[in-house]
Amino acid sequence: MDFSHRHPDTAAVHAGRADLGALGVHALPLDLSTTNPLPDVERGGDSYETLATGGRPTAEDSFVYARLWNPTVARFEDALAELEGAEAAVAFSTGMAAVTAAILAHTQAAGRPHVVAVRPLYGGTDHLLASGLLGAEVTFCDEADVAGALRPDTGLVIVETPANPTLDLVDIAAVVAAAAGVPVLVDNTFATPVLQQPLALGAAMSLHSGTKYLGGHGDTMAGVIACSEQSAQALRRVRAITGALLHPLGAYLLHRGLATLPLRVRAQQESAARIAAWLEAHPAVARVHYPGLDGDPRGLMARQLRGGGAMVAFEMRGGYPAAAAAAGAVELFTHAVSLGGVDSLIQHPAALTHRPVAAEARPSAAVLRLSIGLEHVDDLVADLDRALRVADGAGTPTEATVALQV
Ligand code: PLP
Repeated sequence: MDFSHRHPDTAAVHAGRADLGALGVHALPLDLSTTNPLPDVERGGDSYETLATGGRPTAEDSFVYARLWNPTVARFEDALAELEGAEAAVAFSTGMAAVTAAILAHTQAAGRPHVVAVRPLYGGTDHLLASGLLGAEVTFCDEADVAGALRPDTGLVIVETPANPTLDLVDIAAVVAAAAGVPVLVDNTFATPVLQQPLALGAAMSLHSGTKYLGGHGDTMAGVIACSEQSAQALRRVRAITGALLHPLGAYLLHRGLATLPLRVRAQQESAARIAAWLEAHPAVARVHYPGLDGDPRGLMARQLRGGGAMVAFEMRGGYPAAAAAAGAVELFTHAVSLGGVDSLIQHPAALTHRPVAAEARPSAAVLRLSIGLEHVDDLVADLDRALRVADGAGTPTEATVALQV
C-alpha cells in the first residue's frame, strides 16, 4: 500500500508500523539486545562492514552489535523520516550528539573544516561551535550575511528557526540559495514536522532535540536528523564510531509520542498564541517574542511555518530583577529548563540555557522563555499574572544579578 499521500495526522499514528500485523503484534516491539547472533564468521564480518560504514542491513544481515544498529531505533527513524518528508533519519542519544555528528560528518570527515552558523542558536549548539572541540572553524553571522561568510572549505551551514530563545525566524529557502550548494542544517526542534518541513524548502538536514516535542513528556533524551539516505550513511558512520546511538527504550517512547504529536503541538500552540497576545497587553512586559505577532512582514509564516508554535519569550519592563522574581514566583508553571512537554515551563535563558554564549550574542537578561503545555490556558494566564504582579514589585539588583545584565 502506498502511504505517500496520507494526511500527516494519519502518518503520525501509523508511520513505522506497517509490518506489525505480519509480526502478529499491535504495540511497537522493543528490542533491548546489546549483541546479536552471527550466522558465521564471514557473513558476520560482512554485516559488520556494512553497518560500521553507515549502511542499512538487508534481511540476511546480523545487526552484530547494538552500537551499530537497533531495530527499535530504526523503526522510529523510519517513522520520523516519513513525517519530515525525508528518505531517512538517524537517531542519537541526545540533541547535542546529533549536532556533533552533523558537524563531524560534514567538516572533519568531509575535509571541509569551515562552518557558517546563523545566530541566534540554542546555547548548547553555540557553545559547541565556539568551543573548537570538534576542530571546526566557525563563522557566526546574521542570516543576511551567509553568502559573504562562505569559504571554499565550508562544509556546513547551520540555522535554527524559530530560534531558541527569542523565536527569531530565518528564511530557510533564502539561506539555502545563499549557501550555494553547501548543505544547510535546520534545527527544527521548536516547530516540529507538524509546523515546518525544512527539506521541502531545500535544506539538507532537519534536526531535532527529540528530548522536546517528539518525546513530549519530559522523560526521554534524544536527537534525530532527517535527511537523504546518502547523508544518513555519513551520519550513521559517525554515530557508530563515536557511540552516540539512541537507547531503544528512548526510541520506543519517542515513536509512541509521535502518535499524539500533531494534537499536542496544535493544542499547545493555540494556548501559546493566546498567552503571547495577553502578555503584549501586560503592564509588566516590555516586549513579546512570538512568530507572527509582528504581522509577519517577511511573509515567512505563510511560506514555511504553519503557526507560531508553543514557545513564547518576553522581556520584563523591570529587567533582570523582575525576570528573576517572576521565574521564582510561578506555581503552576515549573521553573525549569527544557521545553516541549505536556506541562508548562518557564526559564531565564541568559542565566541558564544561553549562559555559555558570548556576551554580545547572549539574550537580554530581561528575557524569560515559556514552554506552553496542555494545561487549561486560563489557569496558565492566572499563574503568570500573579507571578508578573509579584515581580513588578521586585527589589533592586544584587551584585550577582548586575553581572547578568548584558
Ligand atoms: N536544539 C535546540 C533548539 C534545543 O533547544 C536543544 C536543547 O534544549 C538542543 C538542540 C539540544 O538537545 P539535547 O538537550 O537533547 O541535547
